[in-house]
Parts: sequence; C-alpha cells; structure tokens
Amino acid sequence: MSQILSGIAASPGYAIASIVTLKPARPAPLREQVADTHAEQARLAAAIEQSRAELRTIRQLTEQRLGAEKAEIFEGHLMLLEDPELIDATNEKIAEEAVNAEYALHEVAGMFIAMLESMENELLRERAVDIRDITARVTSHLLGEPHQDLSTITETCIIAAEDLTPSDTAQLNLDAVQGFVTVVGSRTSHSAIMARSLDVPAIVGIGESLLDLPGGTLVVMDAMEGRLIVNPTDEELAEYKARKRKYDERKANLARLKELPTASLDGARVELAANIGRVEDVAKAIANGAEGIGLFRTEFLYMGRDSLPSEEEQMHSYKAVLEKMEGKPVVIRTLDIGGDKELPYLNLPKESNPFLGLRALRFCLKREDLFRTQLRALLRASRFGNLKIMFPMIAVLDELREAKRVLAEERAKLESEGVELAARIEVGMMIEVPSAAVAADLFAKEVDFFSIGTNDLIQYTMAADRMNESVAYLYQPCHPTILRLVNMVIRAAEREGKWVGMCGEMAGDPSAVPLLLGLGLHEFSMSAGSVLPTRELIAGLSKHEWSRLAEQALTMRTQEEVLHFVQHQLKGAN
Ligand code: PEP
Ligand code: MG
Repeated sequence: MSQILSGIAASPGYAIASIVTLKPARPAPLREQVADTHAEQARLAAAIEQSRAELRTIRQLTEQRLGAEKAEIFEGHLMLLEDPELIDATNEKIAEEAVNAEYALHEVAGMFIAMLESMENELLRERAVDIRDITARVTSHLLGEPHQDLSTITETCIIAAEDLTPSDTAQLNLDAVQGFVTVVGSRTSHSAIMARSLDVPAIVGIGESLLDLPGGTLVVMDAMEGRLIVNPTDEELAEYKARKRKYDERKANLARLKELPTASLDGARVELAANIGRVEDVAKAIANGAEGIGLFRTEFLYMGRDSLPSEEEQMHSYKAVLEKMEGKPVVIRTLDIGGDKELPYLNLPKESNPFLGLRALRFCLKREDLFRTQLRALLRASRFGNLKIMFPMIAVLDELREAKRVLAEERAKLESEGVELAARIEVGMMIEVPSAAVAADLFAKEVDFFSIGTNDLIQYTMAADRMNESVAYLYQPCHPTILRLVNMVIRAAEREGKWVGMCGEMAGDPSAVPLLLGLGLHEFSMSAGSVLPTRELIAGLSKHEWSRLAEQALTMRTQEEVLHFVQHQLKGAN
C-alpha cells in the first residue's frame, strides 16, 4: 500500500525516484568523559582528514559549476582545518579534561565564534561563519553522519529536507536531482521561486512526517497537485510514468510558440517576460521565449558568499544580462534583502518581524554606501542594453524620491568622470505594499513604470506571512480585494501614460492571466517555465471579452466565486 503526503505544489512537474534525506541541524554535542584521550585525539585527526578530502572535492566541483571565485570559500575552510589555534586547542582540551572530541571542538570553536562575532572588522566576523561551517562538517564525521553537500549528489534522487536555502537550491546537481520536497515553505518562499526558475519540480510545506521517511524510499512527486506518493504501487507507478511522459510531450509542443510574439485572440499585444535571480538564468528565459526580463532579483548576487559583491563584479553581471538579452527590456531590481533573504556576513540585528522590518529599499537607504555601489554598477552597465531600474518595497513617496535622488547623484558623478551611460534609463518601482497601491495615482506621476509584486502585496494586504503554511490559504491572488488593488494600479498608471507590469507569481497563474489581460496589464513577468504555457493561454483569449468579464469579477465576493467564474468562461470559450 502506498502512502500519500500532501504539501504545496511549488514548482510543476513529475518525478519518480528514491529520496535522499538531508539531516536537520544537529543539537550541541554533550560532554562525555573518555578514558583514552589519545584515541579521542586520533578520532579527531581522522575526522579532520575526512573533512579535508570532502572539501577538496567540493572546491573542485564548485569551481567547475560556478567558477573559481565561488570556490574560494572552500580554500578558506581547508586552511581553517590546519589552524593550530583551533585544532591544537581542541586537542589540548581533550587531553586536559578527558572529554569527547565533538564536545571539545564545539567548545573551542564556540569561543572563537563568539570572539569573532563581537569584532568590528567585517572580514574577521565573516570568519566566524566559516568556523561554524567546518565545525559542523568535522562533527558530522566524528558522529559518522557525513555532511551532505548538495553539489556532490550524483545519484538519481529526490531531495527531502527541512528546508533548502536559495544557495542550497542553486547548488543542486540537476543531472541527478529530479526534484525536492521540504517540511516547511510556501509557494512564494524563495526556495520555491528558485525551483521554478531552475525548472525542477518541488513540493514544499509537507510537514514533519516527511523526515520520518527512510533514505532510499521510492516516491512519486506529483508537483502539479502537491502530492508525494510514498512506496507507490505498480499501478500508480505506471500511471505516473504515463503522466510524466504526457507532461514532457506537452512541454515539447509548447516549444513551437517560442519565436512568436504574445497576442490575444483579438490581436492585443502584451509582453511576456521572465524573472531571474542569476546571470545563468537568462539562458532559460531565452530558451522559453521570454520577450524581456521583467525582474532580476539582484539579491541573489549577494547571497551564498561571504562578502559583498564589488561594483566591478556587479557591473559585469548586469552587463552580461543586458548583452544576452540583445536590446530587449531588462528590469533590474535594486537589492531586496531582508524578510527570508538574509546576508549573514552583514551581521544585521535579528528582527522580530523581518518582513515588516528594515527590508529592501528601507535597508538600502540606511546603508547608502552599499546602495550607491549597486547604482553605480547599474549605471555603468546601462549602455550595454535596454536597462530599466526598479526599486522594491516602497511604502511612501519620500522613499521613492530619496532613491531617485541618490540615483541622480551617482549619475551626475559618473558623467563628470566621463563614464559613458545610456542617455535615458526608465526608473520604476514595485507595487508590493498596500499603501503604494492605494496611492498609485501619486506615485504614477513620479515613475516611468510600475511592476506589481503580488507575492508581497498579497501577504501585506491579507496580513498573512508568505512563509507560514498555516496561513497559506490566505494567499488568494484572485480574491476581489486583490483584483481591485491591481485594477486601481493599472487605471492610475494609464491616466499618466505609464506602463504596468506584474512580477509576482500571480502573473503566471493560469486562473489570473485572463483577468489580468482584461484589466489591461501590459507586461507579465514569471518563471521562465510559465512563459510558453501563458503565451498559449493568451492566444486563445479575447482581450475585449475579458475586460468585460474582469469588470464582473471585481464585483464578486470571494476568490472561490471568481475562480469558478473564470473556469466556467474558459470552458465555454473552448
Ligand atoms: C513580489 O513580492 O511579488 C516580488 C516579485 O518580489 P519577491 O518575491 O522577490 O519579494
Ligand atoms: Mg517582493
């Protein structure tokens, strides 16, 4: 008999494979007295040697997949494993106190970590992160539970984990990993978004029972419905193999729409763009027929590393995206850190409500040094393509004005230095805070475009944390409240002759697309994998007809009513 675990379908597709379970973070080791301290020291030496071998492999793999610079972090880890202050001190503690190696290491490393974390110097503080990391690695060998590094997984499998960080997700070896399933998360958590941009099936928010499954258990991932079928029967296996084949065939069929522009049945043109998080994602956007980049989440350039990217490094990343897009529009969003996207190396104070805290532009306006570096990099890259700069998380006009002032100052400085820049760069903002949606008429006078970030706009409108699966039911993109806000924003922009895009997940939601087309959205930006299905969908819709139907939807009372109405109309049209 099979068993079914349900979660949230975060990235579509089917996968059939055995699971590899990633272990949750380990509690601090207990102090134990040992009789033979020499044997204990030998155990430590062996664990260090195993860690070293592992790190060498990881360094090599990382260099191949992500480049030499990303691999440098592991060079630092290897050096730490030879650091006498850490290793000799641990050996001394074992000898003097006759304690177990994992406890001694934890204590000695803990002392260094606390000391480094209290330092002013940022570089020294970063070393604390590295010590934490190698301590965990050596401890895992001492305990005989090797540290799982995602880039080293080479067997065909499905990953099961408590959660995956965006950098874990970025490191997945997609030749081997067929999909991933997690205990926590929601459709709009960043690991889910990464999964969609990598086009790998994902089910999140399954709950604790997921980690009870022994490694090697055969499962079927139905990431269309958010179902994980554990130990499938022969019939289920046959059925899902057939579904997977059909799904893959449809994907191949959609490929023929790749070169065509996006137009509705009655000839209205809209732009379908892709969301990206890394320069490498552009290839997928192009392969899926995106007509532009509607959102480049630049924070991913800052994550999965241990120091800030320099102006030069950022400039090269932006330039690469602009050049690859060959003059098609590229909306690059300034740093949106905070919420569930952390930069440990900045050692920012913990906030009790990070999604309501010093996030995105709020943070950039506090750390102008960092903001100016990014703006300079963007400005310098501007002449290599069709760049549009976008500010995230704006709540009040003053924030927009402040951001534009800093941008203008950097532009003036670069011009006075004789640096060549694009003559004109459109400047826009995200509409993701309800205050900005409500006052869109005021903002529309001061920007070139809006992009509606529904992931946040819905979380803030419904007061429902996008990371918390217990309130995931309030993520209702087609609720009349949300549709009314979207409508207000589009109408306000239209009055000022400005264009409106949407880069939240709603833009690629097949139930929402007909309504958004009807409301007059100009640009839809989504995960690359959704571009072609959306183009196919729009090609079958009359914009004229849907503008009438969308008006009706605005007067409904519940999302259920709207969804039922949309499905009914879509069926009628076929
Ligand atoms: C959004 O909030 O809809 C959005 C696109 O931004 P992010 O998901 O990166 O917060
Ligand atoms: Mg957002």
